[in-house]
Amino acid sequence: MENARRYSVTVIIPTYNEEGSLEELYRRLTTMLEESASAHELLFIDDGSTDSSLQIIRKLRENDRRVKIISFSRNYGKSPALDEGFKAAKGEIVVTIDADLQDNPGEIPAMIAKLDEGYDLVSGWKRDRKDPITKTWPSKLFNFVTSAASGIKLHDFNCGLKAYRRDVVKRIRVYGELHRFIPVLAGWEGFRIGEMKVSHFERKYGRSKYGASRLLNGMFDLMTVMFITRRSTTPLHFFGRIAFFFFAAGGLINLYFFMQWIMGEGLHVRPLMVLGLIMIVIAIQIGSIGLLAEMFSSSLERTFSFREYEIDDQ
Ligand code: UDP
Ligand code: MG
Repeated sequence: MENARRYSVTVIIPTYNEEGSLEELYRRLTTMLEESASAHELLFIDDGSTDSSLQIIRKLRENDRRVKIISFSRNYGKSPALDEGFKAAKGEIVVTIDADLQDNPGEIPAMIAKLDEGYDLVSGWKRDRKDPITKTWPSKLFNFVTSAASGIKLHDFNCGLKAYRRDVVKRIRVYGELHRFIPVLAGWEGFRIGEMKVSHFERKYGRSKYGASRLLNGMFDLMTVMFITRRSTTPLHFFGRIAFFFFAAGGLINLYFFMQWIMGEGLHVRPLMVLGLIMIVIAIQIGSIGLLAEMFSSSLERTFSFREYEIDDQ
């Protein structure tokens, strides 16, 4: 990266019981950043570690003030850790990397160079992922479904190694376990998303915090993401449609029985009649939920992300 522009870089490192790898990670990151960045900070987010991770990070900071520490009182999860890091980051470029040395810090300059090609977020793609098959296969399915449902064409949504322009991390909020959907959240905000193949290594120290059991939660999270990003301003458009369908179908059925009654044919309860009534009840319920969501939505303060905002006469 000889001629590439140098940026100030914040590296965010979510850390949960990673005592074995922190010193080596620190050394490799620092060497790389001293060569390629104009200035840098290493923002360790200690996510309630119960091993000596925090002590190690403290020691690093004693010798190097570019090491910053945010330490949670308990384990909140990777998403809250990243979110807190996003809020505190000062660099023009923000990089996230896992603390377990499964990613290669040496790839960061190339990712930053790729941002300069016109992207706001460059996401790593663990082409050759070094994890047990119980993780790689569910993750393939997850990536396929997420890509198809979101329209964001990536192979790997959940790579720990990502590079962002500052605007992106100040814009998106990552809570719960939404870190798996960061490219979707950013993509739907209009940010330009790129992908770059990165190498991946087996875990040398410590244990993985995530297993294969996340698939179902992942599906719920996907629904959440689709909903909060696409529908949040007009919830009644979504709920209203469903309510309308049930109301129309139930209404037709009831109309049929009403006509029978008018024509003097006695009424008796039939399965179809029950269906018609239930559909009306469901329509009212879903419609009311839509109205409630609309009230909630209208009371939210809206903020927008801009590509340009030049309105003053100079
Ligand atoms: N992590 C965290 N909080 C958690 C779980 C994980 O900060 O509750 C960090 C962890 O220390 C690591 C990164 O998130 O730096 C990725 O976790 P892990 O390596 O266990 O996930 P995997 O690579 O196995 O998917
Ligand atoms: Mg890992």
